[in-house]
Amino acid sequence: MPGAYLIFGPPGAGKGTQAPRLAARLAVPHIATGDMLRAHVKGNTPLGIEAKGYMDAGDLVPDDLVVRMLGERIAEPDAAGGFLLDGFPRTVPQAVALDQMLAERGRPLDCVLVLDVSEEEVVRRISGRLVAKNGRIYHELYDPPKVPGIDDDEGLPLERRPDDEADVVRNRYRNVYLAQTLPVREHYQQVGVREVLIDGMGTTDDVAARLDAALPA
Ligand code: AMP
Repeated sequence: MPGAYLIFGPPGAGKGTQAPRLAARLAVPHIATGDMLRAHVKGNTPLGIEAKGYMDAGDLVPDDLVVRMLGERIAEPDAAGGFLLDGFPRTVPQAVALDQMLAERGRPLDCVLVLDVSEEEVVRRISGRLVAKNGRIYHELYDPPKVPGIDDDEGLPLERRPDDEADVVRNRYRNVYLAQTLPVREHYQQVGVREVLIDGMGTTDDVAARLDAALPA
């Protein structure tokens, strides 16, 4: 059932793993601002050059840049019927800007999906995360490649994102997620958008099954 959905949770909650599959099931595009920003960095665009320093430090890219980028994306034809937002909004001003854009389209957010995981689990998950050139994500413990450090599909070396280093993860969780992003959840509770709380602990399949049960297609 198409609609405007938001998947919410700390870095490492499993958003990037669950969202593409969920979006396909809901028949909406998966819009991940982190992926979009990484593409800008890779392409050396003016936005990428400006964003890179913030991203490597685990800090948020300034709201005006991200809001403009997201606004252009949701104006594309494939997003007309809805979308699944992943990694946006990450601050209350971003949420307010999103609400305005959606009000102009005459369709507010349908649902906020909250993936609930503990801080210890976040650190364990992120510090083992390895990424392939094509974007596939592995985990040293939970989802290892067949050959350590090598992508199963293309045989190229896997990389750890600079913002997945342990000290950067702690900065992202405490100073960014708790301080700046958690208030977005409170914002949507106050505004009265439906919230669905999903237990994000356990395996990828466990969490996928809970999401499917909570959001029947
Ligand atoms: P992610 O892949 O969602 O963890 O995002 C990676 C990085 O991109 C974040 O740590 C931020 O530096 C930046 N980023 C992604 N989405 C946003 C956003 N909505 N607002 C500000 N910065 C963002």
